[in-house]
Parts: sequence; structure tokens; C-alpha cells
Amino acid sequence: MHVYSDPASERHVNSMAGVEAPERFPAALAGVEEAERAGVPVEHRPCQPAPVDALEAAHAPRYLESLEELSARGGGYVDFDTALSQDSWEAATLAAGAAVGAVESALEGTGAFAIARPPGHHAGRDYGMGFCLLNSAAVAAEYARSRGLDKVAILDWDVHHGNGTQDIFYGSEEVLYLSAHQSPFYPGTGDAREAGEDRGKGFTGNVPLPGRSGEDLYAEAFAGFFVPILREFRPALILVSAGYDAHADDLLGGMRLTADSFGRFASTLAAVAREVGAAPPAFLLEGGYNLNALTACVAATIKGTEENSSPAWEYSGGAGPVEAARKALSPFWECLR
Ligand SMILES: [Zn+2]
Repeated sequence: MHVYSDPASERHVNSMAGVEAPERFPAALAGVEEAERAGVPVEHRPCQPAPVDALEAAHAPRYLESLEELSARGGGYVDFDTALSQDSWEAATLAAGAAVGAVESALEGTGAFAIARPPGHHAGRDYGMGFCLLNSAAVAAEYARSRGLDKVAILDWDVHHGNGTQDIFYGSEEVLYLSAHQSPFYPGTGDAREAGEDRGKGFTGNVPLPGRSGEDLYAEAFAGFFVPILREFRPALILVSAGYDAHADDLLGGMRLTADSFGRFASTLAAVAREVGAAPPAFLLEGGYNLNALTACVAATIKGTEENSSPAWEYSGGAGPVEAARKALSPFWECLR
């Protein structure tokens, strides 16, 4: 496992949102150390700011300029809960760069984790919101495409819907976006019927789950939706928007997952990647606001990728939220019919 991080992550201060705190960065790195102590070989790698081409493939140049200018002026804000400090531009470009590094590792055949902040999945082509400035997952996906990977999947298990990532790739059939998230909840998007547009129809898949959902429902989402679609899509790379705010102890989320749940998600995705001949998954830190839970979840994710077996989850059918997601995408995927 390669871990990409840069101390700039701790210098970004979002004065509008105390929970997205600089302390999240050392807490997440402590999870890496915990995995190392448990015997997982980890190689720490420095990161470079994301290449301009990759940034501009995901974001409007004018938006990028505005962020850089705000930072250079000492800070400012882009929405009611998203502020920049003097170091935010550097931190955000390095966070996206960490995600790009993770893609490089995947191309070399090694799994990777980008441990960085600010998070990214709420940022769209020309807007920041929800603590997010640059969409690191989108930048990484565009970078992967520029390196010749024609099909990229982004799986987003953050408790919030990744509206920004969905927006950026809504019309694309080359980048598949899949999300399980709490609903109704911030930011209000992610209905099962949001399935993509134009050539991208069927390449956005949403599983909105009710508050207080536990691992049993997520297991159904994996077995009945994510895994079969990934098998049929056969991506060259799976990027994971790895937020940990669906942990039971999280300060923002209302779900009931445990650290071990994320370990099982990770082992499931690693197994699917092997099965379809994709690169090992690249994990990108998104949310997660209870520091102890964040440490435990990062550790469990890394350990999960080392598991040789994945959980034998089965889809039981019925009339729940996973069935609604299957129905919405069944016109586009053989495996859902
Ligand atoms: Zn979140």
C-alpha cells in the first residue's frame, strides 16, 4: 500500500466548519500507522500539486483562478460552510495531487491511499461547497484517462452524496459514478432516478439509504448493485471516495457503520478489481469527523485491502432502497434485469 500525504493538509483552515478540522489529518495518518503496526507493508510517498491539465479537465480555469486568488489574498469563502485560508490553494492542489499519485501507484499495480484535506466530492466544475474546493476524485479520474485508462469507476461511500463528482461526469460513459449515501440529507441530491444524461445515461448509480442504516443495508447495496455493475462495466481502475462519516460515532452522519464495515467494503472492492483485471483500488479520503473513528476506519480500510477473502454478501431482493436503485439502472445494465 502506498500512502500519499503532505503536511500542507494540516495548514488548510476552514473557518466556516469547525468539524472539518486540521486535526483530521494526523488522525487519518494515525490510522495508517495502526495498519503498519498490524503488519501491513506501507510505503509513504510525497505528493506534487496536481498537474494543471488534470485540474483543468475537471474544473473551469476561471474557478481555479478564483480559488488561487482568494488564497493569495489570505482567505475568503465560497459558500456558507466552505472557507479558504492562506494555505488552502496549496493544500487543495496537493490533495488533488495525492489522488493523482494514487493513480500512478495503481498504474504500477499497487494499491494506494491519498490521505489529504480538504475533501473534494461536493466540488463541481465551477463551484466549491460542503467543505470541498477541488474535486480530487474527479481530477484523479481525468488524470487516469489522460494516462490511457479508458474506463474508470468512482465508488463513493461517504455518508453525503457526492453531487460534485456526479455533476462533473453526468454526461460521461467513461467514468462510472456509484454512491451510497444517507437520504434525505445534505446536499439533497442523489436520488435513485439520477442516472446520468446523454451518453452518460446509466453511468451514474445512486443508492439513497435512510438514516440509521447499518452494514446489512450497505451489504445489500454492494451485493445487489455496486458489485454486479462493476463486474459488467469492467473498469481499468476503481477510485474510492472514502469518507468515514457513515460511522456510528460520526458528528455529522446518522448511520451505524463500524470501522470493520469499511474493512469489508475495501476487501470487497479489492476482490472485484482482481476479478475484472482492474488496478488495485485507490482510496481518497473524503469526510469523517470523529477523530478516533477516523483513525480506526482508515486502519480497517488498509487492512481490508490485504484480506484474501471478501464477505459472502448476497442480495435478497425485496422492495427496499437497493431495489429502487436497481430498477432505475436496469435499462442500462444486463446484470440488473
Ligand atoms: Zn461527508
